[in-house]
Amino acid sequence: SFTLITFCFSIAYSQKKKSPTAPGIDEKVEALLQKMTLDEKIGQLNQYTGDWEATGPVTNSGNKLEDVKQGKIGSMLNVKGAKHTRALQEAAMQSRLKIPLLFGLDVIHGYRVTFPIPLAEAASWDLEAIEKSARIAGTEAAASGIHWTFAPMVDIARDPRWGRVMEGAGEDTYLGSLIAKARVKGFQGKGLGNLDAVMACAKHFAAYGAAIGGRDYNSVDMGLRTLWEVYLPPFKAAVDAGAATFMNSFNDINGIPATGNSYIQRDILKGKWGFKGFVVSDWGSIGEMIQHGYVKDNYEAAEVAINAGSDMDMESRSYINNLAKLVKEGKVKEEVINDAVRRILVKKFELGLFDDPYRFSNEQREKKTLNTPEFLEAARDVARKSIVLLKNEKQVLPLSKDLKSVALIGPLVKAEKDMQGFWSIDWGKEDHLVSLYEGMQNQAGKARLLYAKGCEISDTSKAGFAEAVSTAQQADVVVMAMGEKYDMSGEAKSRANIHLPGNQEELIKAIQATGKPVVVLLMAGRPLVFNWTADNVPAIVYTWWLGSQAGNAIADVLYGNYNPSGKLPMTFPRSEGQIPIYYNYFNTGRPAKDDNDLNYRSGYIDMQKSPRYAFGYGLSYTTFEYGNLKLSDTNISGNKPVTVSFTLKNTGNVAGEEVAQLYLQDMVARPVRPVKELKDFKKVMLKPGESTTITFTIDKEKLSFYNENLEWITQPGEFKIMIGSSSDAVKLDGSFTLVD
Ligand code: BGC
Repeated sequence: SFTLITFCFSIAYSQKKKSPTAPGIDEKVEALLQKMTLDEKIGQLNQYTGDWEATGPVTNSGNKLEDVKQGKIGSMLNVKGAKHTRALQEAAMQSRLKIPLLFGLDVIHGYRVTFPIPLAEAASWDLEAIEKSARIAGTEAAASGIHWTFAPMVDIARDPRWGRVMEGAGEDTYLGSLIAKARVKGFQGKGLGNLDAVMACAKHFAAYGAAIGGRDYNSVDMGLRTLWEVYLPPFKAAVDAGAATFMNSFNDINGIPATGNSYIQRDILKGKWGFKGFVVSDWGSIGEMIQHGYVKDNYEAAEVAINAGSDMDMESRSYINNLAKLVKEGKVKEEVINDAVRRILVKKFELGLFDDPYRFSNEQREKKTLNTPEFLEAARDVARKSIVLLKNEKQVLPLSKDLKSVALIGPLVKAEKDMQGFWSIDWGKEDHLVSLYEGMQNQAGKARLLYAKGCEISDTSKAGFAEAVSTAQQADVVVMAMGEKYDMSGEAKSRANIHLPGNQEELIKAIQATGKPVVVLLMAGRPLVFNWTADNVPAIVYTWWLGSQAGNAIADVLYGNYNPSGKLPMTFPRSEGQIPIYYNYFNTGRPAKDDNDLNYRSGYIDMQKSPRYAFGYGLSYTTFEYGNLKLSDTNISGNKPVTVSFTLKNTGNVAGEEVAQLYLQDMVARPVRPVKELKDFKKVMLKPGESTTITFTIDKEKLSFYNENLEWITQPGEFKIMIGSSSDAVKLDGSFTLVD
């Protein structure tokens, strides 16, 4: 059959084409560019959403399918499936120059198989598992006609009110940069041109995560030193890992919208960092410069955006409607357009689309590749690793296999759709998401499972409480599934109040009052506030949204078939009033010794300054002992690094993994440095009684920072070393001096 031939051809092609930047591409792009009219060039810069059957004029010339045939569209988003992408590509092949379309989609945490939300995966601190999850998502998407994912989101986020914290790697720049690299590598696999690789897109460039007040799309007001030191490095890591594309962002940075920001896109990204891929705008962000009050109309928006380095226009229609006139009127140089077109065409060549535009749109491969048991098993594995054990007193966990009955209570016990989390692909009835209830059924053995919903997520009614209490009373142990609905985090899902919604904490109180051992599972897309629960309930497990295999992964942890190892990638506040709250702040002139030291100290008179749970925190069913800290030298000079080693021992009764964390503090510096900064970590598995030696290498790079002139420097002086199990649980400390 034809598809089979295409399939074999595609395999042959992928084997032949080893290097992602095969020689000759530049020449081919140049030759093609020579043939293109200005309108055809502008078409390449135009991206529409794929509801292409929509009626009504969407451009000056009719419907989208017609536009594709006329070469007026270079890329479509929100199109998926081998069949559908093939049909659109066939239309593109009717255009004069037969330039293939690029199909982009938000494959954020899985395609057919849903993986944990990115923030949850970050809690695994397991770079291999994170890369694998992106690898599988890329493999599935590429088998389903997709060329390009709008991921990873690498925005640092210090404000849990912001709904999009669920989509990133949390608050820390070092961890965030490593994860950015792992995800880019995962999506792009062995390189563009391979049939299982999709283009990655680092977003949102830049500083989107610092929206004032945690309100989505909001302004960012930020000193350049913070921008360079905290917010930009994960993007730089993405460039270094070979990210094919970037997406700019909705926010303004110090008054200049990112989309029209030449400093961000041209000077930094394409200039200093030498990024060779292309930049797509965020959805409508070129046109939104009008609402920002930065330009007066779409004509000016197009001029500002293209000159500032935004190569492709996602859904503003600013480019398609204005660029030709702008070139004619001399406001935009044709060379600027050529540069943007070249960047896009290079990717189309690298993907192999000029050799075979249908190579990713192969229904047989799609069928064979999607939703395999192997991929589902990988999803379960990373889901288990993403779970964070916050509290475990009175040995409530793990649950004994001998329990006679377990009560499952709460609005999320039987939830399925919610398990997917925001930014997942809706497969409707085809999909199977393992609920907590089902996961428990799979592992509860002889124990009887009792169930009561108790309340809805956001309701204030207590009508279900009595039944929930009597259900709890009949059981040996109670597991409560509480939290947000999946769509209470994500884009445009900022919350001013991040407490457990509705009267869920009231239900927890009522159940705790029965005297039964209670485990509270918290499912959410962000850090929540739950002080009463934290103070009173003996066992708390943070599960976030874990994807297709959520219920199985949670049951694995509850029954001790997997020993939890996750560590928080974001600080959990006690109250919204503490936000922004993060571990690597600067000291003041009046630092408090601890939460009780309040007299004329920097803090609050009505609340502790410390967070509820610190960055890097997370428990295990076993215990670890840190000891025997050794430094290779107490002075560091020239390019010779210092090595720090210590022993880590599993002192408990079960095997488990620990994430040992290295923090440094530059004691005296100008400008001042944070109280501590994560500089390395290692996740190790140890059997009961086993110990190992861990070594971290500290070179000058780890001691460098930006001075007030944005120069990357080091300053001689004393550095403190802190090693521990979280940012607020330092187990070993020492110091060394940087001599020169
Ligand atoms: C989001 C992007 C996303 C795009 C396309 C925008 O609203 O901010 O992250 O990639 O939509 O769906």
